[in-house]
Amino acid sequence: MARPRQSLPDEWLGLDPQDMAERIRAHRGRLGDDLLILGHHYQKDEVIEHADHSGDSYGLAQVAAQSRARWIVFCGVEFMADSARLLARDDQVVIHPDTSAGCPMADMAERTGTERAWRELGEALGGTQGVLPVTYVNSDVETKAFTGRHGGIVCTSSNAARVFDWALGRADKLFFFPDEHLGRNTAFAKGFHGPDVLLWNPALPMGGHDPAELQRARVLLWKGFCHVHTHFNTAMIQQAREADPDVKVVVHPECERQVVAAADAAGSTAFIIDWCAAQPAGSRIRVGTELNLVQRLGRRHGDKEILPLDRSLCPNMWKISPNDLLWVLDRLGEVNVVEVDAELRQDARVALERMLAV
Ligand code: SF4
Repeated sequence: MARPRQSLPDEWLGLDPQDMAERIRAHRGRLGDDLLILGHHYQKDEVIEHADHSGDSYGLAQVAAQSRARWIVFCGVEFMADSARLLARDDQVVIHPDTSAGCPMADMAERTGTERAWRELGEALGGTQGVLPVTYVNSDVETKAFTGRHGGIVCTSSNAARVFDWALGRADKLFFFPDEHLGRNTAFAKGFHGPDVLLWNPALPMGGHDPAELQRARVLLWKGFCHVHTHFNTAMIQQAREADPDVKVVVHPECERQVVAAADAAGSTAFIIDWCAAQPAGSRIRVGTELNLVQRLGRRHGDKEILPLDRSLCPNMWKISPNDLLWVLDRLGEVNVVEVDAELRQDARVALERMLAV
């Protein structure tokens, strides 16, 4: 759950953009290697221009884990700043410029529901020894800690296939949190579909299934989704192709299965960036992912026509502004410092470190 917002004081509102950019650059020059600013690909350009590294959640988690910087400022949503906190050393300080920038999908799996699901699953199966939890990095610390406690692992959209292999080498069954669609698309690519894959609805007893169905299934999917990616549908792809038969469509695996099936290619944010770069000059491409990234790709590849499949923006990523960034740098270590409960941290970190080792 996103933390309550520490309101941006008036002093940092209504500032001249150029002046703010210069003040942020001055802080970066003064702090040198002691400061690391990370910016997720979905951040606005005026934030990304100050990032030492921009990347997807997997790439930035790796950078955070290897950093020697004393101050790590994470421009992204809450679970990303929390992951950096989990991986950072005790003497490093992780800062989130806007503590109200959460992720609705991460909030869809919460402690009471996941623990009840685990208990019910154990009752249906006669124990959970043969089940491993796998959680998408887009989850809260409690879900990661639950995963770590039960021998499970974190994944991102970049490494989900490898993590599935790792987990299926150790258990008969996976329980995937919290994104139904990344789970379903990854399971499908591994040959699991039909009764192999069950959607667990936390609002229903035993997720809405009987014990025989649960015994039979290989992959259980928590009923959660990213509204930014489920916005895309097959009619949009069809319309794009009717308007331009040569157009190519690439989408993110948080999109629904039928959208992924209808696209020319699908993959993580890093995959989409590389895929667009690899298309020949003159290509016309429609991209089904977050708007800020698509617009940046369009500007980067002026020799191609790269446009959004439809406009879909993450309002939580959008919350972080240069004003927030300047505020946390002006008040370094005094505001928006990320803290994680010590016990949760230990369990969640185990699950994250398993991922980094895979
Ligand atoms: S794009 Fe979707 S998954 Fe990513 S932060 Fe926004 S709501 Fe969460």
